[in-house]
Amino acid sequence: MGLKYIEEFRDASLAKDLAASIRQKSKKPLRLMEVCGTHTMAIFRHGIRSVLPDNITLLSGPGCPVCVTAQKDIDAFVAFSRLDDVIVTTFGDLMKVPGSGTTLSRQKAAGADVRIVYSVFDAVTMAKENPDKQVVFCAVGFETTIPTIAAGILMAAAQDLDNFFIHSANKLTPPALAALMETEGVEIDGFILPGHVSVITGIDAYRPVFETYNIPSVIAGFEPIDILQAIHLLVLQNETGKPALENAYTRAVSTRGNPKAKAVMHQVFDVCGAAWRGIGFIAGSGMKLNQVFSSFDAGAGFNLDLPEVPEPKGCACGDILMGLKTPEACALYKKKCTPMTPVGPCMVSSEGACAAYYKYT
Ligand code: SF4
Repeated sequence: MGLKYIEEFRDASLAKDLAASIRQKSKKPLRLMEVCGTHTMAIFRHGIRSVLPDNITLLSGPGCPVCVTAQKDIDAFVAFSRLDDVIVTTFGDLMKVPGSGTTLSRQKAAGADVRIVYSVFDAVTMAKENPDKQVVFCAVGFETTIPTIAAGILMAAAQDLDNFFIHSANKLTPPALAALMETEGVEIDGFILPGHVSVITGIDAYRPVFETYNIPSVIAGFEPIDILQAIHLLVLQNETGKPALENAYTRAVSTRGNPKAKAVMHQVFDVCGAAWRGIGFIAGSGMKLNQVFSSFDAGAGFNLDLPEVPEPKGCACGDILMGLKTPEACALYKKKCTPMTPVGPCMVSSEGACAAYYKYT
């Protein structure tokens, strides 16, 4: 389409034309998953659903880092906050996520030293300024965030800090897509792939999933035209029976991504298995500190023994993250579960599907 400036990606007449073309060309019922929580929010904010034909259903996916964090990891964050002389540092979104007993927010109100930081570097600086305390950073994020966390570890190592730790609940996107495709009952006709993650990974990261499952897949940016373009491409792929892996966010995403960011990530972390809320254990979907940097691992440093705990009773976050349900199908939605009284993380996170539905519907 040859667009250059950001205003062009918000152009109302272009959006109208794209929406009209989608309505004209889309014949079959289609279930398209926006993998990323930022897309879920953008889709609501720009009113994308209202211009789509009824046969297209948009499903939220597993791309909200707080939402997919397993209950056991939330409990670990809370457990660190109960230890003497420990400062727990976290992004704000995690504060209100209920663990099996309480939240970081309530722990803070009860006197625990829990502090919101805006980057891992703030937590490293805090460790340097508080040598008599142990600082634990709750590391929750996808490929977008992991390189920065790795840089934070390198910064702590360069300063010889022995009082800085992370608990890594970091996750990788492509293995989760593969896991979804293997899950019984999951019906997806196309992925709207995450823009920010893809800036780091590049389009090549999705090739194995695409080649295995032949699933229509398009990387999208976050402006209305970006999202409509991606949906348009997914409609065309489905209607012509020619699945493809396409990049509709070429102004930011390349074939191979950001090699420097990937190198930093792999300098510090090894790929490992990880537990995802709702989806369960997925091989090769997590990142743990490698042997060189293992002394920064809070799990090993504090040796917590946490039991496996079930997810909150009645909460359908797991099914929502797999596209099996929408928030309205959860019996607790807007009743027991609201942004003021969240039961699950999908209602807490600013990228959570339940929070998005609550705000916009
Ligand atoms: Fe979980 Fe609340 Fe969403 Fe239901 S509405 S799935 S309880 S977060």
